[in-house]
Amino acid sequence: MEAREMEQEREICTEADGTDGFRMEMEGLSRNEEFARVVVAVFMSRMNPTLEELDDVKTAVSEAVTNAVIHGYQNHGGKVRIGCSISGNELTVTVQDQGTGIADLKKAMEPMYTTDQSGERSGMGFSFMEAFMDHLEVESCPGKGTTVRMKKRIGG
Ligand code: ATP
Ligand code: MG
Repeated sequence: MEAREMEQEREICTEADGTDGFRMEMEGLSRNEEFARVVVAVFMSRMNPTLEELDDVKTAVSEAVTNAVIHGYQNHGGKVRIGCSISGNELTVTVQDQGTGIADLKKAMEPMYTTDQSGERSGMGFSFMEAFMDHLEVESCPGKGTTVRMKKRIGG
């Protein structure tokens, strides 16, 4: 295992170091997006979320995974890691790719900023993650990949 991989592995382990957490790795293809969203939803159901909270998290996960698939890996596939942990009434979800990375993160996170040329994207993914979760943190390194960490309190 490369040093970078070990670092990423440890990061996710630390993330899930409470008694309640999981991590998984899946191929970053659009047909797996629904799977990721549903797995996180099933996992967090033990927190007795409202339907609205469940939908908020599913939307945020979907945006992060879609970004990894289409921007990070440019639809060519690659590993996407998802970590999920519960600490008290707080859910943390991490979505990580080892794709292209983001050169100007500040700009990328601005509402309506997109590098998409096809006209299909509206540049609202990060804004949705920010709106639907309580906390959003993004780390990215060009050529190495991107890690999105999001937190949400469930049940007030
Ligand atoms: P939308 O999410 O509305 O379909 P979008 O994906 O372009 O459009 P954001 O999700 O806000 O909008 O992302 C903004 C930009 O940040 C993207 O256009 C892309 O350039 C970059 N980006 C986001 N996530 C990643 C990632 N995982 N890897 C590489 N670049 C990314
Ligand atoms: Mg997006």
